[in-house]
Amino acid sequence: MIPVPGYEGRRVAVFGLGRSGITAARALKAGGAIPVLWDDGVSGRLQAQAEGFVVEDLTTADWSGFAALVLSPGAPLTHPKPHWTVDKAREAGVPVVGDIELFARALDALPQGRRPKVVAITGTNGKSTTTALIGWVLQQAGLTVYVGGNIGIGVLALPEPTPGAVYVIEVSSYQLDLTTRFAPDVAILTNVSPDHLDRHGGMEGYVAAKRRIFQAQGPEAVALVGVDEEWGQGIVRDLASRVLTISSAHPGESRDPVLSSGHDAGDQRAAASHPPERPQDWVPAFAGMSGIEVRSTSIESDGAILADLSAARSLPGRHNAQNAAFAYAAARALGVSHEAAVKGLLTFPGLAHRMEAVGHIGPVRFINDSKATNADAARQALSSYPKVFWIAGGKPKDGGIDDLTDLFPRVAKAYLIGEAAQAFASTLGDTPHVISKTMDAAVAAAAADAQAAAGDQIVLLSPACASFDQFPDFEARGEAFRAAVLALGATPETAR
Ligand code: ADP
Repeated sequence: MIPVPGYEGRRVAVFGLGRSGITAARALKAGGAIPVLWDDGVSGRLQAQAEGFVVEDLTTADWSGFAALVLSPGAPLTHPKPHWTVDKAREAGVPVVGDIELFARALDALPQGRRPKVVAITGTNGKSTTTALIGWVLQQAGLTVYVGGNIGIGVLALPEPTPGAVYVIEVSSYQLDLTTRFAPDVAILTNVSPDHLDRHGGMEGYVAAKRRIFQAQGPEAVALVGVDEEWGQGIVRDLASRVLTISSAHPGESRDPVLSSGHDAGDQRAAASHPPERPQDWVPAFAGMSGIEVRSTSIESDGAILADLSAARSLPGRHNAQNAAFAYAAARALGVSHEAAVKGLLTFPGLAHRMEAVGHIGPVRFINDSKATNADAARQALSSYPKVFWIAGGKPKDGGIDDLTDLFPRVAKAYLIGEAAQAFASTLGDTPHVISKTMDAAVAAAAADAQAAAGDQIVLLSPACASFDQFPDFEARGEAFRAAVLALGATPETAR
């Protein structure tokens, strides 16, 4: 655990007693603060009491005595409307922070030479993959690495800082909204597309939250920014840090004019066609590098291949090449050699529920992409195969699968589950589909159809929906898929 200093002897309100709230309370207590805990639910309060924490009804507490409110990322800061604790905190002039901000303050309190490095990753899609991949690459290169945040272990539950260690932290937009001093040495924005708009009051608020990952960075820090979308392009224009852009290379397409003028990264990209000049303030690893371009199975810079990813078993598809580009750049920024960085990419074992090969029945392979909870994520999976037997549906997001129609020719047949089934069926129109309702029925039907088709086939679960209508979370949905596949007698992929 990482003790949080700065609140010694002072009362700090902690609202939301899920995992991150309780962890924050422990970390505050370890730093000498008096955390005062509350939750609308009784079970969190009982757990807090059992651990010996002060539990106090924050609806009636005296807010003037609090040094801060630590808000759970699950409680809204601004939209649809501020949580009642936020209103109370504001009225009393109490700052509202989150666990990432507490982490930042804990590191800030360390003397210069003892501060570990921090790599932080945000973005609409690819956060967890990129985070895990960076953790893996750095670990393989021999560094001491702690991976956590929005993935796995909450940030304050990670081991205490040691000199030379690197924290690799996934941060969500909700968490970023609760930061002011968080200044990662390497900050990554993978991509931005509409998501969680209800919690940010629209796209502008969502992008503003994402942008906060760069807000406290100094000129020595590194920003790695995906610029395939206009929002990423807008963000790089006014960053104080050293910027390296990550973009998808589309053969024959001219470069985006936004990127060829006006700002550092653009200037460096524009210079790519001339002998590269070494920007004076560039980190050594990036000297002469204008940006990284992502192709379907490789990452390149200024026309030179940095890594051929065709042998990277756990990084299929262009979207994973994008994740690899971020990981490569982050590793290089931290001083990992080119060879070690590439080796790390090629040996990555992959993450569960993200394009995870779970098993095969003869030439039919079953891919679990349960983490694809929106259309954009499902697009990446569908684009990775020429033909798929596609299991989709769940609790639909705005727009459903309307944006995926260009990929429907790749769908041999769709098997629709959950609340979204009817709506998806009408969007699919003439594309073959059936309403399977449940995961078991969908897997059985897809497997039978794929086996009946000749040759190599892919059965893909990539729902383009949240899971909550039928499952507790996307992990449970992925496990239900795996169980259904194995129940059909599939050979698990690890046994291959
Ligand atoms: P996150 O943590 O941001 O939700 P994950 O790494 O867990 O991201 O991947 C979520 C889903 O998004 C997966 O289904 C995957 O297919 C897709 N995906 C992964 N990386 C990218 C990317 N760089 N761009 C777009 N989609 C991606």
